[in-house]
Order: sequence, then structure tokens, then C-alpha cells
Amino acid sequence: MDTDISVDEFVADARVWLDENAERRTDRGSDFVWGEGEFDVAVFHNMNYEEEQAYIGGISDWLKKKAERGYHAITRPPAVGGLGLSRAHQRAYGRLEREYVSPGRHELIGVTAGLIASTVEAMGSEGLKDRFLADLLRTDILACQLFSEPGAGSDLAGLACRAERDGDEWVINGQKVWSSGAQFSQWGELIVRTDPDVAKHKGLTAFMMPMDIPGVEVRPIHQMSGGSSFCEVFFTDARVPDDLRIGDVGAGWMVAMTTLGFERDHSETGSDGSSSGGNWTKLLATAQYADVLDDPVIRDLMTRQYISGRVESLTNRRAADLAKSGTPGPEGSLGKLLWTEGMRTMTETVAAILGPKLLADTGEWGTFEWGEHVLGAPGYRIAGGSDEVQRNIIGERVLGLPREPRADTGAWKDIPR
Ligand SMILES: Cc1cc2nc3c(=O)[nH]c(=O)nc-3n(C[C@H](O)[C@H](O)[C@H](O)COP(=O)(O)OP(=O)(O)OC[C@H]3O[C@@H](n4cnc5c(N)ncnc54)[C@H](O)[C@@H]3O)c2cc1C
Repeated sequence: MDTDISVDEFVADARVWLDENAERRTDRGSDFVWGEGEFDVAVFHNMNYEEEQAYIGGISDWLKKKAERGYHAITRPPAVGGLGLSRAHQRAYGRLEREYVSPGRHELIGVTAGLIASTVEAMGSEGLKDRFLADLLRTDILACQLFSEPGAGSDLAGLACRAERDGDEWVINGQKVWSSGAQFSQWGELIVRTDPDVAKHKGLTAFMMPMDIPGVEVRPIHQMSGGSSFCEVFFTDARVPDDLRIGDVGAGWMVAMTTLGFERDHSETGSDGSSSGGNWTKLLATAQYADVLDDPVIRDLMTRQYISGRVESLTNRRAADLAKSGTPGPEGSLGKLLWTEGMRTMTETVAAILGPKLLADTGEWGTFEWGEHVLGAPGYRIAGGSDEVQRNIIGERVLGLPREPRADTGAWKDIPR
């Protein structure tokens, strides 16, 4: 495609293609009709293994279809299947695509094509980029994030999973937890401790880890919202070749921060907060159905929700305009925090609107379904760095406030655990 193409021409072309390959939505904005179709405000999926696998396959198929035109990687260079266009083109396409029925949304697709592809692109060797980038972007392979451990979440740099060098290979032993979609992944981005004798941030190294080799065991975890999207992963003498290393030995912290920077960057999120678990349109329709819009307390909550949605959207647009390098900095923490705050206040608002109908299924369309939002929303306040950790990052790295007192600056092996 001509890289001089204007945003308007590009959108016009894309509209023709979408009209031929996708179905227009009827559940958005003014098209939304209360009582018609499925009312889905779930944050996580409540599915068994086969259903979830098929669901992920459907989203992946749609990405592959888009990849025939480069719409899956609009800002990426043609060498990896992209179009080499601007972020403005990408945002315009995103807005347009939201007018069509989508095959859904799954954390693992975002982790594969968003976080891990971007990390390999930013930090990987030429060999790793050639081997993985195009496949990750098309989701020909799926890859999970193997960071957190039972004793290392917010304190990720304190992680204990070990890798010891043996010739051209590394031998991995230890455990990861909360690995989203690990049971469906062929690969993982693994952060391990390669040097226990230096300060905790300095002794880490990152790898592209094959998930289907001896010594890797994946155990799904059952969630309170139903389904098992997350897993424990155990490594017992699992061997990974050195050419799968991402970045230098000892540069694992930088690699992990790069991935988390992409995870916290919400500058491409839509304006109606619809990316996860409900949006303003559905909330307003629920309040209208419940006939509570004259209640001053509900009006107050609704106004707060509307304002917070607008502030989030405008902040994201400003962040997108400011983003020059493509590698998000600590400002991403603000976007993530606004997003999870919006989910928290949406939970409060819908609980005030529906009261007991959230807990007891009265059979009324569009009411009990909100329970899936309420049970799922807290998860994203923890995932990718909790709200409290985002506040620390904003305080220390954006506002320049004094750092938290630290008692863990010596060699990792000497830190009490
Ligand atoms: C939905 C979901 C998906 C996830 N997916 C993945 C994944 O794919 N891969 C992966 O590796 N991990 C994943 N995680 C794990 C996630 O990154 C961790 O849960 C998170 O970093 C918090 O770590 P923790 O659970 O160990 O809690 P802890 O770190 O033990 O925190 C407990 C509490 O203490 C607070 N706290 C901790 N330190 C501080 C501090 N310095 N200042 C103030 N408060 C603090 C926290 O905010 C929290 O409230 C996922 C988690 C969730 C919920």
C-alpha cells in the first residue's frame, strides 16, 4: 500500500474491505436496542478448555484474515507483514472496525500480538525478530507472559525462578503463576534469575521459552468469575538454547519493563471504555430500564462515570498524540490507572442501580449479566502492576517525588525471604 495514503482514503478503502468481510454491529451507540441479542459485560471468560480454545481460534482467524491486507499491523514495516503507516491510520482503522461485529477479545491475543511481539521488536536480536515477529503479529503462534511468581508480583525484580548456563543451553527450574493463557500457548516470554550474587534487578535474563518441551508443566487455576484463563507453570530441568535469549544476559529487567510499559499503555483504547466488561451505553440503558435516573444519588454516580470515561478517553488521545518513540514510558501508568478506576466506579454504579438483581437472577435481560463484570473487574486492578504500584510509579517517575525507602539493594541471595 502507498505509504502516502491519507487517513480518509485509507479508511474509505478499509470500509469497502470490512463491508465485504465482516458484519456491521447493531449493539453500539444509537443502534443499541435494550432486550435484543446477547448482553455481554463480562471482563473474563467463563468457558471450559475446548470452548476457550475455539474462541481464541476464532479471534486468531480474524487476525489472519486482516493480515492478508496488513490491517493486523498497520504501523509495522512491510517486512513483517505491516503497512508502514502512521498511528493516526491505526487509530482511524480501530474506530472503524468497532462499527463491525468482532470475534471477541482475549487476553492471550493481546499478550501475543501486542506485548510480546512489541518486546521482541524492541529488544530481540535480528535472529529472534526474523524467527518470531511476523508469526506473533499474525498469531500463527501464541505466547504468554511468564513473569509473576508466588513470591514475586509487585516485587517482580525479586523473582526466584533460576536459569543456569550449561554450554549453549540454559537449565530452568522454578515456578511461575497467573500466566494468562499458558495452557493455549506454544511460547512464553520468560524472566529468570541468572545471577543471584548481584542486586536483584541486575541478575535477571529474558528468554523466548518453548512451552511444549520436557520439564514444562502447565496447571490452570479456577477463577471466582468462572473459567480458568490463568495458570501455574512449573519448570523442572527444562532446557532452552541461548539463541532464544531476549537481550543481554543480565538485561532481563529492562526487557520486562519494556513489556509492562506496553501493557500499561492504553493510548490506543477506544473512547467508550468498551475494551473490557461494559461501556457507558450499556450502563445508561440499564439505568433507564431500572427507572432510576430521577434518583439524585444515581444521577450523581452516573455523572461521575460519564466524566471519568471522557477524561480517560481524552487522556488516552493526548498520550497517543505525545507518543513519538513507540516505546511507552511511565506515563502508561496513568492510562492504566484511569482505566481500572473507571471499571471500579462502574461496578459501584451498577451495584447501586441493580441492587439485589446483581445477585439473584430474576430472568430480566441485561441485569444479572452485570455480575460477570463485578466479579471480573478487580482482576485488572491487579494485573500488569496493581493500582497501588501504578501510583508509586507516577509519584516517583512522573512527579519526581522521593522514592520509597528500600532495604533490598544488596545481592539478591542475601535479601531475607
Ligand atoms: C487478571 C490477571 C492476569 C494476570 N496475568 C499475568 C500474566 O499473564 N503473567 C504474569 O506473569 N502475571 C500475571 N498476573 C500477575 C500480576 O502481575 C500480579 O498479580 C501483580 O503484579 C501483583 O502481584 P501479587 O499478586 O504477587 O500481589 P502482591 O505483590 O503480593 O501485592 C499484594 C498487595 O500489596 C500491594 N503492594 C505491594 N507492593 C506495594 C508497594 N510497594 N506499595 C504499595 N502497595 C503495594 C499491592 O498493590 C496489592 O494490593 C496477572 C494477574 C491478574 C489479576
